[in-house]
Amino acid sequence: MSDEHRSLGMNRQIDRRDFLNGVALTVAGASTALGFVPAAMAQDVSGVSGTANYPPKRLGLRGNFPDAVSEFESIRQGKYAAFPVADSEIQEEYDLVIVGAGMSGLAAAHFWRTGLGQDQRVLILDNHDDFGGHAKRNEFQHEGRTYIGVGGTLGIATPYPYSYGAKQLVKELGVDVKRSADFANRDLEAKYNLRAGTFFDKEHFLEDRLVVGNPRSVEFFERAPLTDAARKDLIRIHSKNPDYMAGMSDAEKEAKLAKMSYQDYLLHVAKISPDAIAFFLGNGGRNNKRVDTTPALEAAQHGLPGFNGLGLRLEETFNEGSFTFHFPDGNASIARLLVNRLIPGAVPGERDMNTIVQAAVNYDKLDSPDSSMRIRLSSTVVRVQNENSPGDAGTVKIAYIKGGKLKAVRGRNCILACYNALIPSLVPEIPQHQKDALAYPAKVPLIYTNVLIRRWTAFQKLGVSRISTPGMYYSYMSLDPGTTMGGYHGVTTPDEPIVVHMVANPNKPGLPRKEQNRIGAHELLTAKFEEFELKIRQQLARVLGSSGFDPAEDIVALAVNRWPYGYAYTYDTLADPDVPPEQRPHIIGRQRCGRIAIANSDAGAAAFTNQAWDEANRAVEELFVLNGLT
Ligand SMILES: Cc1cc2nc3c(=O)[nH]c(=O)nc-3n(C[C@H](O)[C@H](O)[C@H](O)COP(=O)(O)OP(=O)(O)OC[C@H]3O[C@@H](n4cnc5c(N)ncnc54)[C@H](O)[C@@H]3O)c2cc1C
Repeated sequence: MSDEHRSLGMNRQIDRRDFLNGVALTVAGASTALGFVPAAMAQDVSGVSGTANYPPKRLGLRGNFPDAVSEFESIRQGKYAAFPVADSEIQEEYDLVIVGAGMSGLAAAHFWRTGLGQDQRVLILDNHDDFGGHAKRNEFQHEGRTYIGVGGTLGIATPYPYSYGAKQLVKELGVDVKRSADFANRDLEAKYNLRAGTFFDKEHFLEDRLVVGNPRSVEFFERAPLTDAARKDLIRIHSKNPDYMAGMSDAEKEAKLAKMSYQDYLLHVAKISPDAIAFFLGNGGRNNKRVDTTPALEAAQHGLPGFNGLGLRLEETFNEGSFTFHFPDGNASIARLLVNRLIPGAVPGERDMNTIVQAAVNYDKLDSPDSSMRIRLSSTVVRVQNENSPGDAGTVKIAYIKGGKLKAVRGRNCILACYNALIPSLVPEIPQHQKDALAYPAKVPLIYTNVLIRRWTAFQKLGVSRISTPGMYYSYMSLDPGTTMGGYHGVTTPDEPIVVHMVANPNKPGLPRKEQNRIGAHELLTAKFEEFELKIRQQLARVLGSSGFDPAEDIVALAVNRWPYGYAYTYDTLADPDVPPEQRPHIIGRQRCGRIAIANSDAGAAAFTNQAWDEANRAVEELFVLNGLT
């Protein structure tokens, strides 16, 4: 065992004795005791039952956790192409069956029942053990207190204009976006004078060093461990730049910038030293594009350094800034508010934006035979088939696997609010050109890891609340103190435990963007929890070790939310051909097939909540029209 491992508290093999499904175990005498972990939770490692069926408390590998997606490869390979359940075994029938309990699927159920009445029989099937899709939360319990982390979708702000329907939904859920400040905890930063920091790692820079302060200032770069050439160039492009494209018209400049990467612009137009590029490695452009996959024009529109001498008057990218709002658990509370509307008994008590975060969802009520609205979790849909020719009034049968058993239901209508790339395998009857269109994009993989630590004195000593780590596996980490609201207690002092939120964007620099996404997704699907854990411990030790952080002692529990099926893919001028809107793959791909309509943010080619809702609205309307409703 290397010294490095020892210093990380890894001087014994990490297995379930030491770290059970994301929760550090304490060793009492000769036996392993669970310490703060409720005994029931210890049996909850399979992610199926235990802890009174409360999925947000399940830790370890979460997000698209292995059991949830284990059937996807068989679906892709055509194992269920012949409908796998006999008609005689299909007993349940619904007005609408929705595949996917993410923002889009939940909203589709809401729009459907708003249009046709609350007595409509609707079933939502989802492969995860919790609803919300990407909008998930992690709950840590430690010494009698609950700490909540954001497991995926954070907020409802967006660069795409809000439709009337999406705005109405926010209103109907009782979310007053103007109260954003009440839900954001900025007190800690002011009280303890915490600032942003950047950690320079020795693999990409001259040595390991944390530099605190504004990462655009001359003074910042003077303290950074950079070669003289890199320092000089970074100061230059963060200052007033000359016109590196002098002699070209604005239109020529923009056309050129649209077709080159930000990396190529920095290296070959602004001519910065190759040593300086590492500083930009952690920069996720829109849709988590990297410095080598972000079009230079997009970087310029976003105000990234290096362009202010070009004299371009670039259109500011739209931002629905008035919707900047999020709960301490991100959009998981929005999903809860939606479920509360759909199945009133599932979230006991009067629930509104002030109290939803603390509500204990009754998961046993989600799929009650007494209710016309049902959400069936841990149910992977494997095949969806129209029973009549497209256009006829007919039905759709939907086969799924739950608890290892194949089952099926029948719907008079069906909405696929699931990952669009899986649809050609779920519905092999769709035309080839539509299959090709659905296969075009590559979802963007991401990891949102939440680490509960015993105290954050190390952050306090360093004077930082958030740290960019451009060369490392996790490119960003920040304290997530939560807010004191609705019975939930935010963190206020450095001696208290706190959630540290860490973000990684697995990819393969140098390759085309879609290939990078696919390789990153594969990496996420194949890595074991222990590999993520080691990376987390190593990184926290290196970044915070100088101020006394000891991973072995200070880490209480981990939730690694891996999202190989992450953001919907969006187009850009570098990677995608410039075609008329109606020829875009997502438009061709989302066409209704018989009584099956297609939703999900994938169908909008936009990774935003309002888009997921708009696509749900469109899919519902398509079926309303098909059913002759006016
Ligand atoms: C880490 C992360 C952070 C994000 N942050 C933001 C943010 O701050 N703001 C924002 O607006 N957007 C954010 N997004 C984008 C987010 O994807 C959308 O906002 C929105 O939540 C997508 O909802 P959806 O219903 O379209 O898709 P999803 O949330 O992916 O829901 C689809 C559901 O269908 C299920 N499904 C798939 N296949 C099957 C099957 N065969 N059987 C049964 N169920 C199936 C999936 O498991 C999933 O539960 C984030 C995404 C990620 C991954």
